[in-house]
Amino acid sequence: MNTLINNISQLVAVPPGPVSGRAFSSPPVVQDAAVVLEDDRIAWFGPAEETPGGAYDATVDADGGTVVPGLVDCHTHVVFAGSRENEFVQRIGGATYLEIMQAGGGIRNSMRALRRAGIDELVGEASPRLRRMLASGTTTVEAKTGYGLTPDDEFKTLLAIKRLDSESPIDIVATFLGAHTTPPEYDGRSDEYIAAITDELLLSRIHEDGLAEFADVFCERGAFNVEQARHYLAKCQRHGLKPKIHSEQITNSGGTRLAIEMGAVSADHLECIDDDTIAALAGSKTIPVLLPGCSFFLGSAPAPARKLITAGLPVALATDCNPGSCMIESLPLIMSIAASLLKMTPMESLVACTANAAAAIDRADSLGAIARGYLADLLILDVPNVNRWAYQVGVNAVRTVIKRGRVVLENWSILRY
Ligand SMILES: [Zn+2]
Repeated sequence: MNTLINNISQLVAVPPGPVSGRAFSSPPVVQDAAVVLEDDRIAWFGPAEETPGGAYDATVDADGGTVVPGLVDCHTHVVFAGSRENEFVQRIGGATYLEIMQAGGGIRNSMRALRRAGIDELVGEASPRLRRMLASGTTTVEAKTGYGLTPDDEFKTLLAIKRLDSESPIDIVATFLGAHTTPPEYDGRSDEYIAAITDELLLSRIHEDGLAEFADVFCERGAFNVEQARHYLAKCQRHGLKPKIHSEQITNSGGTRLAIEMGAVSADHLECIDDDTIAALAGSKTIPVLLPGCSFFLGSAPAPARKLITAGLPVALATDCNPGSCMIESLPLIMSIAASLLKMTPMESLVACTANAAAAIDRADSLGAIARGYLADLLILDVPNVNRWAYQVGVNAVRTVIKRGRVVLENWSILRY
């Protein structure tokens, strides 16, 4: 099936990731453009006057809007049970994230709720979040486990993610974050917990059933140290799970160095990264994923995005959507926050949320770009340019969402879910 998208005022032809340097700040832009889709792929794009002739099975009128690739949210904890607005209010009163965690709140709070929930409840709670993400332009989501913290509850979370993926037009990529924190029953015995959560039976079931593609660890003071993170990731890697690391969020703990050493697909957070580690990262293939929504939500110092960009790194952005440190589902809102906190231009943020985010989940060869043969995941925005999109903070400019060549949202209404 051939589909023509015409009447595009501005097409941002984000190239395949990872994108750095000049193309990161100024990706190619085609004014008065058209795009041709063949089934679920992009077949052609360019100036409208050069549109290939012939009959099209369907036409989508962009009505003078801007067209960009569908957004890729490459770091989320979107599958969880319950809610933690009480901690949100405690923090307003002066409590810190670490204090709340040490008092038994934080991740353990979500852990208790998740252990009580069945798969149906997990799916029921995450589904509306994914619908809202789709409505803000997200067409692919990475989703982590990490609130179960027993082999059975982690497995249950992975089954919920699989069901959400099959029921939603959004593609969901799963990450096993068994090493999110040590559960209370292993207090003071985190080495033993790592051994339990990397149980051979669990890891081989995850691998054989194709339930996760990545393994992730929270490498941080109060969570897991570099040695434990290395051990955890190495065991997961032996079962085909590619490494990712939460590193340098609250302290400079060395997680990013470990990411480089292990050839991790991404190192995420980096609020406390130092100059030497930035230089080391620049010589690696690991994608730096920044999560400025977390700094916004917690009122903490943001990552040094400009230093990373100047070092030539293909920076990616994600929401980090989670019930504790960042209850933000919208990537366009993250783009607005990145403008104010990270000093990233809207165009840089767009590349960071598309081509580079796709690279951060090892999908740079099929997703996140306007290129021939790439998946036809596209947004039609009700704005004349990308700058206007991030500038209108909190206004949803996503008028139409095309996922794998099908219109799944039109005039701000979800058609298919
Ligand atoms: Zn996270």
